[in-house]
Parts: sequence; structure tokens; C-alpha cells
Amino acid sequence: MTTVALPSTVPPEFSVEVNDRKCVRCKKCTTECGFGAVTYSKEFDCIIADDSKCVACLRCVTMCPKRAIRIEHNPLTFKPNASFTDEIRKNIYKQAESGGILLTAMGTDKPYPILWDHLLIDACQVTNPSIDPLREPMELRTYLGKKPDKLEFDFSGGSLKLKTDLAPNFRLDIPVIFGAMSYGAISYNVHKSLMLAAKECGTLMNTGEGGLHRDFYQYKDNVIVQCASGRFGVTEEYLNAGALVEIKIGQGAKPGIGGHLPGEKVSEDVSKTRMIPVGTDALSPAPHHDIYSIEDLSQLIYALKEATEYKKPVSVKVAAVHNIAAICSGIVRAGADIVTIDGFRGGTGSAPRIMRDNVGIPIELALAAVDDRLRAEGIRNQASIVVGGGIRQSADVVKAIALGADAVMIGTAALVALGCRVCQKCNTGNCSWGIATQKPHLTARLDPEIGAQRLTNLLSAWSHEIQEVLGALGINSVESLRGNRERLRGIGLDEKTLEILGVKPAGR
Ligand code: SF4
Ligand code: SF4
Repeated sequence: MTTVALPSTVPPEFSVEVNDRKCVRCKKCTTECGFGAVTYSKEFDCIIADDSKCVACLRCVTMCPKRAIRIEHNPLTFKPNASFTDEIRKNIYKQAESGGILLTAMGTDKPYPILWDHLLIDACQVTNPSIDPLREPMELRTYLGKKPDKLEFDFSGGSLKLKTDLAPNFRLDIPVIFGAMSYGAISYNVHKSLMLAAKECGTLMNTGEGGLHRDFYQYKDNVIVQCASGRFGVTEEYLNAGALVEIKIGQGAKPGIGGHLPGEKVSEDVSKTRMIPVGTDALSPAPHHDIYSIEDLSQLIYALKEATEYKKPVSVKVAAVHNIAAICSGIVRAGADIVTIDGFRGGTGSAPRIMRDNVGIPIELALAAVDDRLRAEGIRNQASIVVGGGIRQSADVVKAIALGADAVMIGTAALVALGCRVCQKCNTGNCSWGIATQKPHLTARLDPEIGAQRLTNLLSAWSHEIQEVLGALGINSVESLRGNRERLRGIGLDEKTLEILGVKPAGR
């Protein structure tokens, strides 16, 4: 059979309206759109929009000095059908035209229940006084890493001395870290913004699987260096250029498969950092080819500890999947100091739609199940739990900690703070906001100093909000809230879900 390139029959998702009377023909929108959806027509002296290219990144709308542009959902619709929805029909058309896997980006937009929104937080009234965070000290500090089973002291010589050797721990000033996003998937300026903000806020950013640019070795005290299946950019020097090391086994947006950075995003600088040729697709394999058992994982954990002289906690990151409690128990027994669990709503720079929208489980259930299992086995102190994949606001942070997390990680929320409109087109490399792109004219749009300020402001705002809630709970430290599920109640949840969450229904 001869194959030919088929013309697209998929109707545009959005409709771009330029108000001709408001427009002053400054042509700003034509350069601002990373997707080439708006152009200037000399012949008609007006702005012409190509709806088929619009992704609703809203850059033109935001930058137009005359507010002359409106973007709406394309009113051209299909005959309603609850089974063959518009989206399903469009996807079939696209696959009939391309014959390929449908790629997408960011977290799933499917209307799965968001359990954070079904959990309510307690507050003190009458008998147990609340605390005023404006007048009383309120501790958000927490430590990531293995804690000892017991502490032994030496009282000889009239002074108290700690005899127990403590494992390396990382002190977080706020229980929120920036999750793994690789250089290549996102720009140099985004990495720099994250590093500056992590340093300012006393927290961490994560390199993701793409290595660490040489310029950023100076921020080592606030960086998690990741070692993924592709081993991009992994050297002994790199492992020692971070405060923590993370083995990435899985990612919430695409559990069970490897990473894919399209060749167009592998610029000269990205290629140097990843140690791969310019313009080649960076495909990390689905499994680590040296890990086929918990014993193999243990070997890698200890190889990384050896390479970093046992001075840094080692984390193992997995996607939240069906048997997550047993998996995490194995990870802790293999010697990990931190288990990082990424829920199925986690974001990505690029993933097959089928994986992102159908594989994995919600982080809320995974967290509760893992915390229960580690407690039941008496090994909860041996590793910290960090969770992500759907943390959108400070209330989610409080609820995650009450369910058992030591800290949370944010990815999409951090990018939104930098200007991302969640248009879900990161995989194209055309991000108009200069975030998920390597094109110099686009990356220049994000000033890392301003980016860092926006991220710092976000974390600072969340800190104040978390302190408010802790005060209302009558608790003066975030560590006292950890695993305190009695302070949560469920609403609109079935009995089994409440049982897994270990939370009583509202009213009880
Ligand atoms: S940015 Fe606004 S005013 Fe300028 S050309 Fe585009 S639509 Fe017209
Ligand atoms: S990072 Fe850019 S391309 Fe990706 S969703 Fe946000 S605005 Fe869109």
C-alpha cells in the first residue's frame, strides 16, 4: 500500500477573534505567538488568525496592548454523543491521519475525582485553644532522610553526648520542593529560576533526568540530582553536585515507560549537559537495565551512596501504581532514605495520551496506603515520604502532610507561577511563555530573576497559609501534623475510599 500525507479533517479546538476596530496593527501578537497562529496581512492591513494553530496559550491576549484579541472554544461542534465525545472523535481522526501515538503534555485533564477536594481540615474551638501565627512561633521546618530507631546518649564526664550515628538529612525550611523537570524539557532560565528560588526559600529543586548545566553547580546545596534509566549527564562529579541524589524509576504521568525528549529540543547546550549528540531524540528506556529486583535497586542505592561518600540522602522516585505500598516497603528495605511517590495527575513535558490519562492511581490513596504499610512494618522512620502529582495549592500541602507525607513536590504549580497557561503543548517545543522550549527568542522571555521572585512569592504565600491552618489546628509545627489523619474528615467519599485514606466521614 502506498502511504500519502493526509490533509487534516480535525476541526480547530479554538477560535481567535481580533477586533479590527481596537487593533492598532502594532503586530506584537504576531511575534508573541510561539505557534504561528496569528500573522499580519499586508494586503488587507489586518491581523489574520489561523485557528488550527491556536493552542490557547493566551500569550497574544496577554500581550496585546489594546486587549483586541479574544480566544474562545470553537463553536463548531459535533452532534452530542456521550459515548463518542468530541474529543474521542477528534483523536480517532488524528490517528487515522497520522497512524501514530497521540502525544500530549502536563497532567491529565480527565475529570477523575480529586480527593484533596473531598477532605476537610479540623479547627480548634473552645476546649483546645488555637494558636495565633502572627504572635506565636510556627515551625514549618522538616528534615528529609532516615531517622534512627532510637537515640543513645553518653552521660559520662558530666555532659550529655549523642552516641547514635545520624544518617544524612536535608533540612527543608518549608515542606514544599520543586519536582523533577529536566533541562531540555524546560529552559535554562526556568532551571535558574527554580534554583534561585529554592536557595532563597531553603528548599530544593530537582534536575530531572537531563543532567545539571555547568553554570548551576554553584547551587549544589539546593539541588536534587536525578539518576534515571537513560543516565543522561550522570557522572561522579554530577552526583556530588547535589544535596540529594534521586533514582527515578517511574513518573506519575507515564508509569512504566521511559522519557522522550524530541530532537528539536536537544540544543547545543542541552546536548552537552545530557552528553548526547545535538538534535537526537533523547529516549530513556522504560526500565533501568541494571534493575530487575529489589536487590538490584539496593545495589544502585549503595553505589550512589558510595559515590557520594555516604554524605547525601538517596531518594527513589516511583509512580503511584496499584501495588504501591508493597513497592515502597521494598524500596525502604533496599536502603532508600526517601521514597518519592508521583501520582497519576503528575505533569510531564511529553507523554503518550493513553498513558497519561489511563495509567496509575491518585496520590492521595497511594500516600495513605504507603504510610500505613511502613508504619505497620515498623519502618516508617527509615525513610521520608515525598509526594507529588496533583499538588495545586497550600491546602493540598496541609492535607498531604496530615495523610502522612513529610513534604510535597510541585511541578505544574511552579510553572504556572512562571506564566504557564497549561495549554498542554510542551511537547511541541514552541512554548510562547519561554518555559517548555529551547528556542532562544522564546526562552529570552523569562527573566530568571523575576521568575525566582514569582516562585519565592508563591512559596512565601503558601507558608503563611499553612501557618494559618496550623494555628487553627492548635499545632505549632508541621512535623506534629504529619500522619495526623484524625484532623481530617472526608466528604462525599465512599466507605472503602475513607477506609484506605484512614479518615472518618464529616460529622463523626
Ligand atoms: S497585538 Fe493587538 S493591537 Fe497589536 S496587532 Fe495584535 S491584535 Fe492588533
Ligand atoms: S509550559 Fe508552555 S507549552 Fe507547556 S503548558 Fe505551559 S504554557 Fe503551554
